[in-house]
Amino acid sequence: MTEKEQAFAAIDASENAVVELETLLSAIPAFAPESGGVGELEKVEALEKWLRGHGLSRLERFDSPDARVPSGRRPNLVATIPGKRDDRRLWIMAHTDVVPEGERSMWKSDPFKVVYENGRLVGRGVEDNQQGLVGSTFAALALIGKGIVPPHTVRLLFVADEEVGSQHGIQFLLDKHADLFRPDDLFLVPDGGSPDGSEIEVAEKNICWLKILTKGKQTHAAMPDSGNNAFLAACDLALRIHGLEATAFTARDPLFFPDRSTINPTKKEANVPNVNTIPGDDVFYVDMRILPQYPIAMALDEISKLMREVEAKHGVSMKYEVVQSNESKATAADAPIVKALAQAVKEVYGVTAKPIGIGGGTVAAYLRKAGHDAVVWGRMDDSAHQPNEYALMENILGDAKVFATMMLRE
Ligand SMILES: [Zn+2]
Repeated sequence: MTEKEQAFAAIDASENAVVELETLLSAIPAFAPESGGVGELEKVEALEKWLRGHGLSRLERFDSPDARVPSGRRPNLVATIPGKRDDRRLWIMAHTDVVPEGERSMWKSDPFKVVYENGRLVGRGVEDNQQGLVGSTFAALALIGKGIVPPHTVRLLFVADEEVGSQHGIQFLLDKHADLFRPDDLFLVPDGGSPDGSEIEVAEKNICWLKILTKGKQTHAAMPDSGNNAFLAACDLALRIHGLEATAFTARDPLFFPDRSTINPTKKEANVPNVNTIPGDDVFYVDMRILPQYPIAMALDEISKLMREVEAKHGVSMKYEVVQSNESKATAADAPIVKALAQAVKEVYGVTAKPIGIGGGTVAAYLRKAGHDAVVWGRMDDSAHQPNEYALMENILGDAKVFATMMLRE
């Protein structure tokens, strides 16, 4: 048997152990403090213990201090599988945090007790992001178990805080431990994909969320002329801002779906409690995902102009606050990571995978911004964040073979 055949055989034999690890991980909910959780420490400590017990012993921790959680720490864990050479290292990065279960009655089973039936694992986190975490772990264990030394060093990275902005996860590592990563390293983020595994995400739109505050003058609704309706002015602005899609950000890029910039008013805060009052204050939010060719500063300029027009028309004052802003860079469609992944996907799944762009919001954007080539990939139905979240065993094992193939590339 070739090394690859040995590794694949080991992966095929790991079904029970996959269920065991998924069950262990889902049983320890790792919610962010923003969601009322205690963070990832307990889950990561259990994972560390499990990894050591199964032969992955080169582990290092890089904890980000966070006073909001009882332990004061948000753990990031690196597992190293030394290669014959230490150049062009392959990183596979998964996150350990999960989102809360949401409406409990929508679940057919306990979200934190993994159910395994008919090749399907159900539970919070089993797909997002434990499919990637477990798949990359079993790929590494297959090599270690067979005594195979990969041509290039492999590093598995398990990060915290992905669901709420990555400040204590990959952003912390890029900021405080930038020397972990080298320019010729390859980065694979198995945290998103398509049911057939044919989509390799290489680019994201520039994402920006705004909070828009309007100050008018409250008055009785019978006497609207003696006030300035902040809600009405905000509605006018919301429509104009959405209109920028058709006036200022008109480019199309077939790499993305949808292929245009999207600019939408979304969340709305409550204003006055009664119907017969003209509101003097209004707060709403905008979600913008613009094609990478447009800088976020351009969008902010356009919105400022619209605000001045609406202020003049409605006699109100308006300002915005940036809730989130992330200007992304794309990974080249012919970068080594893209080629290696496409080849492995072809070999394992018989599928021709193509580079695509998405609306934004994955951790790969932070890596790309720091100058690293990163792709997001997986074979999954995308049940993340939903009730009855599930992962298919055949995808976990298949993805593990894709990862093992990449680990064994020359
Ligand atoms: Zn995720």
